[in-house]
Amino acid sequence: MSFRSNSDGLRPTPSELIRPMLAEGALRLADGQRIAVLPGAFFPQLSVGLDQPSGDHVRHAVYKLGYEWALQDMVRLSRQLAAEFGAGANLDLWQMDVKFVLDRWWAPLNAAGWGAWTLDLSSRTRRFAFVELHHSLVAAHSPGATQPSCHLYAGLFAGALSFFDRIESHSVEFQCASLGAPSCRFVVGPGPQVDEVESWRQQKVAPDEIRRRLT
Ligand SMILES: [Zn+2]
Repeated sequence: MSFRSNSDGLRPTPSELIRPMLAEGALRLADGQRIAVLPGAFFPQLSVGLDQPSGDHVRHAVYKLGYEWALQDMVRLSRQLAAEFGAGANLDLWQMDVKFVLDRWWAPLNAAGWGAWTLDLSSRTRRFAFVELHHSLVAAHSPGATQPSCHLYAGLFAGALSFFDRIESHSVEFQCASLGAPSCRFVVGPGPQVDEVESWRQQKVAPDEIRRRLT
C-alpha cells in the first residue's frame, strides 16, 4: 500500500488514512479496523469526570468501554492471524503463545500513541497477569488526579485476557503516573482477588508490596 504524501512530504493525511463507511456509520482504517476520531479536549474532560469522588459510574463506564474495545480487537486479530498463518495451518489464536498474541494485539496501540507496555505473565498459574505501562495517554491528561485514572486501560487489559482465557478476568490499576509514579501498573486476574487489590490500594499498601502479595 502507498499513500500520497501531504504538504510535509512525509506523512499521509487523516483523510488518506481513514475511510468513512457511511452505510454503517463508522470510520475504518485500510485494514478494516474501526476507529473513533476525538476532539483534543476529550482527554482533559474525561480526566475531570474520572476523578470526581462521585464518579464511580463514569469510571465503570470507561472501564467497560475498554473491555468491549479489547474484545472487538481480539476478534479482528483472531481473523488476521488465521489469514496470516493460513487455514491449512489449522492453527487458531488459542493454540498460539499467549504472550505472542497479546504483544501482537498491543503493538498497533503502542504505535498509535497509547503507550508502551511490559507484560509479565510469570504468575499465569495463579491466573494473574501484570502490566507496566509507560506514557499512558489518560494519565498524561490527568495532572493533579487524586486516584488512579487509567480505567480505560484496565478495561482493555481485562478484555484482552478474558478473551484469550475464555473466562472473565478483572483488572485494576495499583500505581498510576497521574499520581506521580514513573509508570502505571495493573493486575489482571480473577475478580475477587483483583477487587481485593483495589481495597489494598485504598489502604495505601505500596505497589511493590501489592505485587509481592500476589506472587
Ligand atoms: Zn495510570
